[in-house]
Amino acid sequence: MKQLTKHTPEGNTNMTTNLIPHYAAFVEDMMLTEGDTRVIENTLGLVGESGEIAEKIKKYFRDGTIDKTNLQKELGDVIFYWFALHGAMGIDPEETIEANMVKLSDRKNRGVLRGSGDNR
Ligand SMILES: [Mg+2]
Repeated sequence: MKQLTKHTPEGNTNMTTNLIPHYAAFVEDMMLTEGDTRVIENTLGLVGESGEIAEKIKKYFRDGTIDKTNLQKELGDVIFYWFALHGAMGIDPEETIEANMVKLSDRKNRGVLRGSGDNR
């Protein structure tokens, strides 16, 4: 796991931590809404930012060029709302990642990565 220097509001830059909990705390600090309003805002934010990525990929196939710096910014916006929704719903993002890795590894091992169905 990549380590980074944690920049706390108090300016303490000596503490090191894992990237995922550090970013989760960063996102929580950025939240402007709460309760059901937050759930709605975070969900629409996640979908909206995903749409911005789709738009850039559409233009890539239409025009043959893509600004990877701008694409990366939109990917960052998606991950922001992905973390935000975890916080709004009280779900541990590390558990989500781990469970997803287990699920996909199992599918790969069973030769069912291709195909459809949520519970392959
Ligand atoms: Mg964006």
